Amino acid sequence: MTPAKKIEILQKLIQIKSVNDHETDVADYIASLFASYPQAKVEKVPFAENRDNLVVTIGNPDGPMIGLSGHMDVVSAGDEAAWQHAPFAGEVVGDQLFGRGASDMKSGLAAIVITMLEFLETGTPLAGSIRLLATVGEETGEYGAATLTDAGYADNLAGLVIAEPSGLDNVVYTARGVIDYKVVSTGKGSHSAHPEKGINAIDNLMKFYNAVGPLMAQHTKTDPVLGGLLHNVDLISGGEQINSIPAHAELMANMRTIPAYPNQVIYDELEALIAQLNQEDGVQLELSYSYPEEAIPGDPDAPLVQLAKQISDTVCDHDTQVVGSGGANDGAEFLRAKGDFTSIEMGPGSNTSHQVDEYISVTEYLQAIEVYKQLVPAFFDQVAVKNAHATAND
Ligand SMILES: [Zn+2]
Repeated sequence: MTPAKKIEILQKLIQIKSVNDHETDVADYIASLFASYPQAKVEKVPFAENRDNLVVTIGNPDGPMIGLSGHMDVVSAGDEAAWQHAPFAGEVVGDQLFGRGASDMKSGLAAIVITMLEFLETGTPLAGSIRLLATVGEETGEYGAATLTDAGYADNLAGLVIAEPSGLDNVVYTARGVIDYKVVSTGKGSHSAHPEKGINAIDNLMKFYNAVGPLMAQHTKTDPVLGGLLHNVDLISGGEQINSIPAHAELMANMRTIPAYPNQVIYDELEALIAQLNQEDGVQLELSYSYPEEAIPGDPDAPLVQLAKQISDTVCDHDTQVVGSGGANDGAEFLRAKGDFTSIEMGPGSNTSHQVDEYISVTEYLQAIEVYKQLVPAFFDQVAVKNAHATAND
């Protein structure tokens, strides 16, 4: 495939406005690229109306399977007038290709799709199979990856590469998890001249607020790469008007977890605190979570991590760093699948993700395709060597 065609595919992806929705348009476009290859198995897996995940499988089903994954949604462009380059145009200026998703992560998505297309185009024999896992809703809760995992599409993976914008000079092998939770306090309204007739929902919510900070601060273990557990109350609201006892108050908190504390440990503590406070007279607190994700433990010396580093070092002539990520990604969901495999995050990116005038370096985008094209067969070789050793030791 010519570089011009590769750039055009990325531009077309950026021109599809899949802002937290409409991923089906992206899925249909990618599926159309595989239409002339009947040997590619193309499946749409619905999450909701207009929100289909896409799974494309190619290669040799008798060998190991590598997953290549990217999300099809992008975040909002915000104030479009603030952009110098229209967010859904895919404008190229010099080596920069602009647009919402240029970095996070339509360039990564295009690169893995093109990697597969090029194997098909050249008829390259593959020792294993490649599965594209293109997801919906990554930016708002990884629920596309959850759908695919629940449906079994990540079962039997031997390795997974998520083309998120780490930059090709980074291989991410471990990531923080996330717990977003909400506490709603229900009281009883009354005139503030007669507070005894009401129940102050704000006062009761503050009991939780004052207790939860010290409780979470007791988690003092730190991860050598990711750091410690983070807990922040970021939203709080309550009350109706100045002379009424508030009947309703709520807060939301964001937690960034580390592998040392599985999410269940935190859930148990939060739920115990709520149960304890609800014993008090008049206190009525309710806890809920939105799309929590487990931290990804990972091993910096895992064969796939080291292989990705070596190949990126060679293709890009730089020293790739093996790092951790403070953000959650689809890998947290895929790792729930049956089977034991390494998930890494490595893809083209710039530091403009989620910002105005988001861009990707065209050079880096084209290099990413080269990295994946070398990584896939090298990974199959690596698995074959490992299996040969295992058989020899039987
Ligand atoms: Zn992303």
